[in-house]
Amino acid sequence: MKTIGLIGGMSWESSALYYRLINRGIQQRLGGLHSAQMIMYSVDFAPIEALQHAGDWDAAASLLIEAARRLEAGGAEFFLIGTNTMHRVAETICAEVDIPLLHIADATGEVLQQDGVRRIGLLGTAFTMELDFYKDRIARDFDIEVLVPELHDRQMVHDIIYQELCRGQIEPESREVYLAIIDRLAEQKIDGVILGCTEIGMLIEQRHTAIKLYDTTAIHAQQTVALALE
Ligand code: GLU
Repeated sequence: MKTIGLIGGMSWESSALYYRLINRGIQQRLGGLHSAQMIMYSVDFAPIEALQHAGDWDAAASLLIEAARRLEAGGAEFFLIGTNTMHRVAETICAEVDIPLLHIADATGEVLQQDGVRRIGLLGTAFTMELDFYKDRIARDFDIEVLVPELHDRQMVHDIIYQELCRGQIEPESREVYLAIIDRLAEQKIDGVILGCTEIGMLIEQRHTAIKLYDTTAIHAQQTVALALE
């Protein structure tokens, strides 16, 4: 089994999900008392969030480069960034370490492709929904059209992530807001919706909607297990 490195803390709520899902996956594959060989470097999210909103991606990248170096020095054989948004600086981080990154958009794109998806909705932070780094990667590498909600809906999705989900707050009213936004996206004949923020799965589960959901935390964890056992 390979040693997994996880840059966590963005937010720690989703890192806890990653930890459970990856360990559960290894246990299911290997049985008995097997669990993941894993190192997590969990950052303080507050300064990173401030840098994101100030648009200082270089400074945010520096913090994650330091985290990736620590994982590498600790013996990780590949690493994950446990957030969709910070993949905005994935290439900058990868240039500074020798271990490979399991990119969350690639993990997700592969599953979408296996399912024959051609047109998909995307929910995430405003950075993930509006900048090119995520949507374009899925469109270019997997030939899948990516649709995002309109501006007001994007703002609500974004605010709920930072004001509630990253703080571990799960509000039924916010679930209704998300489900209404998913329904509006579905009017555009999509094959499903990417939960492209690692905390959304805490709010919305498949049982809440008939529209097919692709939870990036679960997919990323599942691909991590496969890679660790390859
Ligand atoms: N975990 C979230 C994501 O997947 C948002 C937190 C962050 O800004 O990194 O994008």
